[in-house]
Amino acid sequence: MRSETERTTACHDCDLLLQLPASAGDRACIHCPRCGALLHEQSDQALHAGTALALAGMLTFVIANSYPVLVLEIAGNRNAATLWQTALALQRQGMAEVALLVLFTGIVMPALELASMLYLLLPLQLGRAPPGFPVVMRLRQLARPWCMVEVFLLGVLVSLVKLVHLASVRPGIGLWAFFGLIVLMAACASRFRPVQLWERYQACRIME
Ligand SMILES: [Zn+2]
Repeated sequence: MRSETERTTACHDCDLLLQLPASAGDRACIHCPRCGALLHEQSDQALHAGTALALAGMLTFVIANSYPVLVLEIAGNRNAATLWQTALALQRQGMAEVALLVLFTGIVMPALELASMLYLLLPLQLGRAPPGFPVVMRLRQLARPWCMVEVFLLGVLVSLVKLVHLASVRPGIGLWAFFGLIVLMAACASRFRPVQLWERYQACRIME
């Protein structure tokens, strides 16, 4: 029979069922005995780091979308466009599907992911349970595979290399900011611990 001081948990990587103590006490981390995955973390370091990275990501996202991604010079004519202007130009040239794809992968999904992470992390950091926490957690899980800033940047780099023969092409501040955004989002995702967030959410609800 299961002891009252224990709780059953499944490893998120290898599905091994384990009995963990209800309170891990001073033990900083508990790892899965079969695959070594991190199952429990006592410190709030990941939560603090995740919040800081999500805030930095949001700032970088604003910079990436406010400055030109590429600067083109053809026969003395200088053209610089932000991602949003590029999508509009594509739409005007009859490539509505490509414009939609650029908009979706480069602007909408990263914005949604960053906003959802901040919505979940910031109130928990302040000891409050965000309203609709379970729905936002599930939506983030669903939306994550569609956030493809890396794929979008790869496309930009391929066109940059192809255009070099035709015109003078320089990467803009926006492109560098997008590179930074990829690193920040990956770092933030690596510190996103759903189990820890669910536990924190439960604790905040009890206290409210
Ligand atoms: Zn495991």
